[in-house]
Amino acid sequence: MNDSLEFDREHVWHPYTSMVDPLPVYPVASATGVRIRLADGRELIDGMSSWWCAIHGYNHPDLNAAVRAQLDAAAHVMFGGLTHRPATDLARTLVELTPPGLQHVFFCDSGSVAVEVAIKMAIQYWRAVGRPGKHRLATIRGGYHGDTFGAMGICDPVTGMHERFRHVLPEHLFAARPRARPGEALHPDDLAGMAQLLAAHHQEVAAVVLEPVVQGAGGMWFYAPEYLNHVKALCDRYDVLLVFDEIATGFGRTGPLFACEHADVEPDILCLGKALTGGYMSLAATLTTSRVAHGISQDGGVLMHGPTFMANPLACAVAKRSIDLLFENDWPSQVSAIESQLASGLAPYAAFPHVRDVRVFGAIGVVQTRDPVDVAAMQRVFVEAGVWIRPFNDLVYLMPPYVISPDDLERVTKAVGLGLDAIR
Ligand SMILES: *Cc1c(COP(=O)(O)O)cnc(C)c1O
Repeated sequence: MNDSLEFDREHVWHPYTSMVDPLPVYPVASATGVRIRLADGRELIDGMSSWWCAIHGYNHPDLNAAVRAQLDAAAHVMFGGLTHRPATDLARTLVELTPPGLQHVFFCDSGSVAVEVAIKMAIQYWRAVGRPGKHRLATIRGGYHGDTFGAMGICDPVTGMHERFRHVLPEHLFAARPRARPGEALHPDDLAGMAQLLAAHHQEVAAVVLEPVVQGAGGMWFYAPEYLNHVKALCDRYDVLLVFDEIATGFGRTGPLFACEHADVEPDILCLGKALTGGYMSLAATLTTSRVAHGISQDGGVLMHGPTFMANPLACAVAKRSIDLLFENDWPSQVSAIESQLASGLAPYAAFPHVRDVRVFGAIGVVQTRDPVDVAAMQRVFVEAGVWIRPFNDLVYLMPPYVISPDDLERVTKAVGLGLDAIR
């Protein structure tokens, strides 16, 4: 094991890390339920769902069975000129569960690519209907939409981690993120920002792209859902498409199946990923309306995208099973139980002098510190306490698997306190 750890350190890149001075990594032997077992035998209770994905826990018998059954049929076939039941069954389910206007599904291989496809759909649409000048994007600060170039262009220009690519990214339009939290009334500035931006630039704007209600890796900010109604009205007024990136929020994380349901707003284009396969495989989807799909397709037009592993059958089969499992498990009660336990478990930390803010929304809990934390040091404390939490910048955040028990969740929220003590 030491051998392979050594090799890993020298040769294997981890996300956002140096190849000269990498942060420590912990070798995993297996994972079952909400427990990740390290190679040295220690067990960690998972507080991260492997970045929003493993909502039913690891090594789930039903999800394993879905993969195995599909493995005996076909692990993969190209999607050009061929189709298969796992893809059509999953597409039918997504069309049924998402807002009614969304009728057309493009499967791709990761969240970032789903965002690229959404951008292409928006730009191709306006070009096809004779308004090629509408090719810029508008969004709010504090967003995160992925690591590929199109997606990077709409990440927060400062916290979005892509500042160093600014000189090669297209210049899009940014309004301030809404200050009002869920339950608060929108501030006049919240309304003015996007209104002014679209009033000035709508002739060149193809789409507004937003993470509805919960902004993820750009800062873990939760905002008032009414902002979505406001932006929707502006989009209607100025002939701008509305894209919702629900790659993090989709599949129940914020309570309803999709976060846009908090505001009852339908987007023209919707991106899904992360929890789509219950954390088993990389799969994402971009859905759109008949207006956009038929617009792009008029006069022989085609959507210009087609990844090699598009609609991988193993991934589609496990995604379908994972969605069925959500309903069987009554995810709204799972999520609301986690929400109240996170709220009470994290509340005491708001009094710590080095904590700036504690916030909880759905099955997401955030403790924001005044200064960036020492990730390696904090992580060591968490591992010693038997939990897996990966802080980022000034954010110690939790999004546990929906199947976590109250006892295990209590260990996770208590460990947050130990981690915060360690960096006082
Ligand atoms: C993670 C994430 C992405 C990117 O997805 P990948 O699968 O990592 O490419 C895009 N948008 C949001 C909101 C995300 O949370």
